[in-house]
Amino acid sequence: MPIEEKPSRNEDEYFVKLDAELLKARREKLDAERRAQERAAHLMKCPKCGADLVERDMNNVKVDQCTECEGVWLDKGEMEMVLHTEESGFSRVVRDLLGARFR
Ligand SMILES: [Zn+2]
Repeated sequence: MPIEEKPSRNEDEYFVKLDAELLKARREKLDAERRAQERAAHLMKCPKCGADLVERDMNNVKVDQCTECEGVWLDKGEMEMVLHTEESGFSRVVRDLLGARFR
């Protein structure tokens, strides 16, 4: 009897459908677990080079800076904080990047 013989009875079709649904559910669970693991593995890692990020205080603005490439990551709201801090080389650079015209 061929292994891949198409089920001809309703009962066979029922179990084939059930198996497919179980496999689909299992696949979705594995995918969700893998996504969670990937997110955890990337937590506080540089999006550019993958090295560790460390939180630093720059003019009372909290930034996450890469320990390797020294790239800087700003949390939501921190960019606005930079613009409200006193004039510094850093905020001048950010203003230029944003195309803001304050002077
Ligand atoms: Zn980096």
